Amino acid sequence: MPAPAACLFDLDGLLLDTEPLHGQAWTRAAAHFGGQLSPSQRRQLRGRRRQDCATQVATWLQAANASPQSATPLNGDDLLAVQQPISRQLLAAAPAMPGAEALVRCCSELAIPMALVTSSAEEAVQRKSAPHPWLEQIQTRVLGDDPELARGKPAADPFRLAAARLGVDPATCWALEDSLAGATAALAAGCRVWILESETEGDGLPVDQLPKGNWTQIQRLDQVQRQLRLLAGA
Ligand SMILES: [Mg+2]
Repeated sequence: MPAPAACLFDLDGLLLDTEPLHGQAWTRAAAHFGGQLSPSQRRQLRGRRRQDCATQVATWLQAANASPQSATPLNGDDLLAVQQPISRQLLAAAPAMPGAEALVRCCSELAIPMALVTSSAEEAVQRKSAPHPWLEQIQTRVLGDDPELARGKPAADPFRLAAARLGVDPATCWALEDSLAGATAALAAGCRVWILESETEGDGLPVDQLPKGNWTQIQRLDQVQRQLRLLAGA
């Protein structure tokens, strides 16, 4: 296995432990409208842009609670109006994932170019990153509201754009992901993908739904750090 030309990092659930908090915020927003989200539905929201999540949750709640009397159907914006304040409050205190800071420092030390490839919008990234100055080592970024981004994960666009900004071929990059949407996007872009298994979701990522490609599941981020050091002879 050759050393990567660059490492492309997901943020939520990969570098920062935000996914349980995102899940809580969507669950509480759904409850506000009298609905519930199953663990499987919460998992489907992982790795996606908030507007895409909101549209999806509105569709689920409509389907579960379709009443002919309701003249104005629930839409994504109604959900976001409730979900965003909850999410903002929860996410400001999100901790780093174990091994995340050490892995980013390792890439810096080995002079491996890095990019952040996240579905989160700029203002949310800033809020979540504030307690984690080590994230500033990753200067190249593709965010969910990036003006040059046509489609979000699970489309390949975010990873292609990140590789283009770094001036490398996506096929020579390692992508680090935790969600089905994110891993699908990175595989579609041709990256080698390391998929971090979630400890909190219990039933895990449905790997049978992943497209064919070059991916490996890992339990801890230090497994990738070890590979990088081995390949660098460091
Ligand atoms: Mg993620």
